[in-house]
Amino acid sequence: MSVLYWSHPSFRLHESAPDHPECGARLDAINDQLIAAGIEPWLMHRVAPAVTREQLERVHDVAYVDEIERVAGGCMTLQHLDRDTVIGPHSLEAARHAAGAVVAAVDAVMTSMPRRAFCAVRPPGHHATRNRAMGFCVYNNVAVGAAHALAVQGLERVAIVDFDVHHGNGTEDVFRHEPRVFMASAFEGSLWSTSDPQEPAPHNACWLDLPAGTRGRAYRARFAADLLPAIDAFAPQLLMISAGFDAHCADDISHLYLVEDDYAWITRELVALAERHCAGRLVSVLEGGYNLPALGRSVVAHLRALLE
Ligand SMILES: [Zn+2]
Repeated sequence: MSVLYWSHPSFRLHESAPDHPECGARLDAINDQLIAAGIEPWLMHRVAPAVTREQLERVHDVAYVDEIERVAGGCMTLQHLDRDTVIGPHSLEAARHAAGAVVAAVDAVMTSMPRRAFCAVRPPGHHATRNRAMGFCVYNNVAVGAAHALAVQGLERVAIVDFDVHHGNGTEDVFRHEPRVFMASAFEGSLWSTSDPQEPAPHNACWLDLPAGTRGRAYRARFAADLLPAIDAFAPQLLMISAGFDAHCADDISHLYLVEDDYAWITRELVALAERHCAGRLVSVLEGGYNLPALGRSVVAHLRALLE
């Protein structure tokens, strides 16, 4: 099995503030580990196209898309979209191609082989709501891809599994009233900074709210007991992943203690789920992961499992 690998030069050029954890060096760390691990020959590299207005407006308010184009389009120096979301001169191009990568990956796995794709994108997307950039995210890349799968590929059930250590609040904001999308998010509850902790999960979402200090064994047990059966019951036709690697024990942005083997296990379980329900169709999209060596090794573990 080979895996489609979507990237674009602008992803590396998207600037954040000095010492910002969401930096271009993240992609260098991934590329270094792909080469060191010797899995490059099995990746089918594709250059991401730019997203269209029509594709963005399925997910984001017209006024928000206008505002991002106005602010980011004329951006000559670094600017803050919110407290921790920073853009520079290359950010609009990167954001357009990041969302476009996921749309192209959806079309590819729906219409041809191989049926598995990874989008190595920056900026990440799962915190971006319909009308707000936040948490390093500008456009909600995975949501744009899922909306495309519904509108153009005619799917009736798309599942989005989010294993980034932060709650995928933006994706839930986009799809909370869309019964054709099911969202499963595993996150560290104490990091809840972008959602109201009093608010219950939407009807079409399943939350795995993990306490600080959770290690791989407990994580896997809860993932298997709570998350996987919920996705099985939904029986998706396409499985999408918000793949953040910031629950790694070396990542000091969180207090979970996963290791590379845990990401391999999660990925194998999701591949098996895609084989059961989706004819193997799976699109994985990079979100967080800020300890550079751990990020590179974890992405390799994820891709190795996708290649099996
Ligand atoms: Zn995260």
